[in-house]
Amino acid sequence: MRALVFNGKLRFEMSYPDPSMEEGEALIRVLCVGICNTDLEIVKGYMSYSGIVGHEFVGVVEDCHDQRWIGKRVVGEINCGCGSCRICQNGIEKHCPERTVLGIVRRNGVCADYITLPVENLHMIPDSIADEEAVFVEPLAAAFRVVEQVPIASSHKVIVLGDGKLGLLVVQVMQMMRCDLTLIGKHESKLRIAQQQGIAAAFAEQYKGGKADVVVDCTGSPDGFESALGLTRPEGILILKSTFAQKANLNMSPIVVDEMTLIGSRCGPFGPAIDGLARGVIRVKPLVTRIMPFEMGVEAFGIASQRETLKVLLRVSS
Ligand SMILES: [Zn+2]
Ligand SMILES: [Zn+2]
Repeated sequence: MRALVFNGKLRFEMSYPDPSMEEGEALIRVLCVGICNTDLEIVKGYMSYSGIVGHEFVGVVEDCHDQRWIGKRVVGEINCGCGSCRICQNGIEKHCPERTVLGIVRRNGVCADYITLPVENLHMIPDSIADEEAVFVEPLAAAFRVVEQVPIASSHKVIVLGDGKLGLLVVQVMQMMRCDLTLIGKHESKLRIAQQQGIAAAFAEQYKGGKADVVVDCTGSPDGFESALGLTRPEGILILKSTFAQKANLNMSPIVVDEMTLIGSRCGPFGPAIDGLARGVIRVKPLVTRIMPFEMGVEAFGIASQRETLKVLLRVSS
């Protein structure tokens, strides 16, 4: 099969071995994939990963022990726990120390003609959601994780820092909470996407709205963390959504002095993400910068890493 493989260098391969289905897994033909910042970090060395890249996909189940899945259009959760350790038995497979993670930890990713995933990771996609929207379910679920961890009330003042793909998803989830909300970023075109959806947005240098009760750092950079600290009020909550390859040299003392709560936040619930897209409450089409043919995967990664780009999608099959 065709596959986009990272092995110190990113390469498009024409005859990569087909995946073999393990017990409890489904074989999925990939329709469309999204390139995420994590993928861009991986090709810079994050997680020391090698193998097929990518983790955001929509596909069609071609083979499965459970007939009900065959022919269904699906997206999939990316963490695969061992199923037997204490953490898995408590239902948090995403933290299993033995886990594999699609395209990130010891499990081939989705930039390929075929993938396999455990059936329990799969979620069906209603016809009302297009392929180009369905690939956003995984990152949108990560955005919904924030409000799962910190219940947001309308009285809360919330700042989302970073106007990239994830920031533009988190801010839409926050908008559903009807809080006092501002997106702070660096790119006029990206801030405008939020403004067009009725969300207050400001350039970092021009923001004068004061500190917030809750700040979500979606900048993906160590500098962003420093700025986020400066925007969080004493005893406020700072939620970190950024993962980056480089190690950060951070001054932690404001957290102690101002008694802030720091929350790490990763993967989230797929149900609300699918529902938000199906109801049209979350709009992801403005986030798609380009849809490229699969064969142009290497070029697509280059384009995805450019500053003005939001989401680049690869059309794998139809
Ligand atoms: Zn992602
Ligand atoms: Zn486990």
